[in-house]
This record gives sequence, C-alpha cells and structure tokens, in this order.
Amino acid sequence: MPNEAFDTPLTDIEGLVKRSHSAFATGKSRDIEWRKSQLVAIKQMTLDNEKALLSALKQDLNKCEQESWISEIGFVTTEVDHTLKHLKKWAKPCKVSTPMVAMPGKSFVYPEPLGCVLIIGAWNYPYQLVLAPLIAAIAAGNTAIIKPSELSTHTAKLIAELVPKYLDNDAFSVVNGGKEQTSELLKHKFDHILYTGGETVGKIVMRAASDYLTPVTLELGGKSPCVVDSSADLNVTAARIVWAKWLNAGQTCVAPDYVLVPASLADTLVSKIKTKLTEFYGQDPAKSPDYGRIVNQRHHARLCNYLEGHNVAHGGQADASDCYLAPTIVINPATDSALMQEEIFGPILPIITVDDVEASIDIINSRPKPLSMYVFTKDKAFEQRLLERTSAGMVCVNDGFMFAVNPELPFGGVGNSGMGAYHGKYGFDTFSHMKTVMKRSFLFDVAVRYPPFSKTKLNLMKKLL
Ligand code: NAD
Repeated sequence: MPNEAFDTPLTDIEGLVKRSHSAFATGKSRDIEWRKSQLVAIKQMTLDNEKALLSALKQDLNKCEQESWISEIGFVTTEVDHTLKHLKKWAKPCKVSTPMVAMPGKSFVYPEPLGCVLIIGAWNYPYQLVLAPLIAAIAAGNTAIIKPSELSTHTAKLIAELVPKYLDNDAFSVVNGGKEQTSELLKHKFDHILYTGGETVGKIVMRAASDYLTPVTLELGGKSPCVVDSSADLNVTAARIVWAKWLNAGQTCVAPDYVLVPASLADTLVSKIKTKLTEFYGQDPAKSPDYGRIVNQRHHARLCNYLEGHNVAHGGQADASDCYLAPTIVINPATDSALMQEEIFGPILPIITVDDVEASIDIINSRPKPLSMYVFTKDKAFEQRLLERTSAGMVCVNDGFMFAVNPELPFGGVGNSGMGAYHGKYGFDTFSHMKTVMKRSFLFDVAVRYPPFSKTKLNLMKKLL
C-alpha cells in the first residue's frame, strides 16, 4: 500500500540519482578530508539522535536499549571509528614488484572510487544495514543513494529526516518506499549495488543490474546450522544459542536456524536451553522488556503457519495483535516441512537429532550453502571435519555470531547466501576499483618485444619474463 507521507515520489527519483552522479563527477567525494568529514558526520548524527533512534527501533521491532545500542548505534559508531583510523592506509596506492621485462618501471594498485552506488537495506537491523554499507561507500570515495526497508517504517522515516541534516545533500539521498520505489531506482544506472534482503528480491536486483553490467554485492540469508557435539560445555552452549537465536526475536540473518545434536544429548540440551530462556526472558517472555516483536502481522502469520502439525516442545504462544511469538522449540520436524525448507527468520528453533558428525555434514551439504554455521565442541578433530567438509559464509566455533563484532573479518555469504562482503577494509574494497597502474621510463627501449621476431628475441624474452 503506497504511503504518501512516507514514500519518495517516483517522479523525484531520477533527479536524485542524477544529482548524486553529478556530485561524484565534481570529484569532491574523492578527497580524503571530505570523506573523513562525512564519516564524522555519520557518527555525530548517530550520537546526537540516539534517543530518537532508540525510540524508532523500539516502535519497529520492540528492540530494547541494550540490543539497539550494541547492534545498531554502537555498531555504526565503531565502524566509523575503525574506518577513520585506517582510511589513510587503505586509500594509499600500494606498490608491488615489477618483472625485469618491464624495467625500468614501477607498479602500483590504486584504489579508486566506483562512482554513485545504491544501498538497499532490510528491516531487521534497519539502521545498521544501510549505515554500515554507507560508511564503506564513503570511505572508498563514492556518492550514494540509500533505500531503507519500508517495513521498519519509523527507522526509515528518521533516516530520511537525519541524512539531509548531516551529510552532503548533493552526494547522498535517501529514497523511502516499497517495491515501486526500489523498482524505479533499479531502472537507473549505478556503479555498484549493495543489497541486503531475501533471495527472491536479490535475483530481481541482480537481473536489473545486469542491464548496465553493474557489479552487485548481495547480502542474503539462508538456514544457518548449529552443530552441538557431546564434548561441548552444554551450559555455555545453551546460553550462547539462546542469545544468538532469540536476540531480535530470531530476526537476524545469522541466527542459528536449526540445531543438529546427537540423540543421546538432545533432552539435556533442550532442558538447558529452556532454563536459559527463563533466566533471560522470565516465565512469560511477553512481559520481558528485553524480548522483541515480529516486524509485522504478515511475518507473524508466516511464522505461526510454520508451527502447524509440529511437536512443539517449548513455547508456541502467539498474540497476533502484539506481533508476539514466544521463544519456541520444535523437536525433529519433518525435513520436507516448510519449517525445515525455508529460512525461519523468527523465534522458532528446530532441534534435529543425528547419529554422528557425518550425518550432520550430510544434512548441511544437502542444502544450499548457509550464511553462517556454528559448531560447539572441545574436540579439534570434530571442529576440523566440519570446517573442511562444509561451506558457509561465516563460521563461529563455540559461540553465536560473535564474528560480526570484529571489523577485521569480512561479513558476507557464499552460494545462495550471497556474494561479496563488507565491514572494515572489506567494505572499502567492495566499493573500490583496484586500478592497475604501471609507470615506465622512456629509457632503455629494448627492441626485444618488437617485431620482426626471431629465435634470439624469443629466448631472451623467456629469460626476462
Ligand atoms: P525487506 O522486505 O526489507 O526487503 C529488502 C529490500 O528489498 C527493501 O528495501 C524492499 O523495499 C526491497 N524490495 C522488496 N520487494 C521488492 C521487489 N519486488 N522489487 C524490488 N525491491 C523490493 O527484507 P526481506 O527480504 O524480508 O529481508 C529478510 C532477508 O534478508 C532474510 O533472508 C535475511 O536473512 C536477509 N538478511 C541478510 C542480511 C545479511 O547481512 N546477509 C542482513 C539482514 C537480513
């Protein structure tokens, strides 16, 4: 449903895209000091408006203050700080060696900005998912159009209010709205598109980008497995699974989607998970100030439908009017059920019992490559087998998605869970072209490479190359 108070008029979009391209053409975004000033402005915008952001996130997803701070506000300011600290080094041309045949000469890799880029965000971390790519795009010297998700309306509205107040208005614009606005944006040429969201729209974005041969980064999702071994410390394992699964009510792209555990361990693990759930969210999570809500009624209904016909071992209570779904555990759902075929992206955790690590590897490898995988074990051989025999965008051993807090690590998927990555230097590289530059001298114009060719020239060439 179009929302006139919120949507960017379709007729404005072409002008905004042109303005951002023209701003790039002026060359101002290439200047390192200008880039730094925009990055500092993002930090300032985030800190000045912390209260308004917390309130918008609360209204969109019932995010509590601590969760919003860690995963949205603090995440963005830390990314700015890390980028400011390293920008000079990242942006500097890098000298590499030169072979004899090209001597005298010098070889360099020059990181150069791509131009005007498009950033399309998803609703589950609505501030972080557009601001973190924007930080990378600015660091690399680009201008950008950002399109927050229309499902997290309050945060999207706030972003559209704040960005023009803090950032260069010609270089950066926010487009709000839904499918129509995104489709209109995709009719235009960009120099890179970073899209975060589901696979179906990811394909639409990639198809549209192909019209202009625009490179894309796709940050998608998938069913991320969590493998628990009998050697694991089950108390810590349970606490970390509960944290990673039920943060943001399970609406995290890297949340554990399902658990694979030896049958002999399942009852103990489930009992420890239940204990941690009560410890974290109380007897009635509906009353916990720390437990989130499903983003809207459509997603709420989708999740409730997943539960039909299953053996619910814990939770299952739902209130559509409040978009509430209790932390829920399902034991051994059929592998062909929707619950085990689609990414859950909500507070339901299937526990699948397996005979051994080979069975876990078979289950993981029979499915599309996931965005992340979690392994809980003290057994190095077990850990190694999973690392070597399966593929995933990111892996954490003995914890949930703690890799996301390390800006030195790339964040991205593989296969159906996405292509490309960002965070820290990886984001800078994503939004840069690594331009090859060789500088030669006019001296020593040796004729060995010029025709007419001869055996002697060829033999010499073989030695020089
Ligand atoms: P969404 O509904 O917010 O859609 C994402 C974006 O696509 C929005 O900006 C929306 O306007 C646009 N869009 C929707 N339909 C469109 C269409 N038909 N044509 C053009 N544009 C359209 O988000 P979603 O897809 O529900 O996101 C959830 C998915 O995102 C999950 O699979 C999750 O795992 C994944 N995700 C991945 C990451 C990551 O970093 N890899 C992060 C968050 C979410």
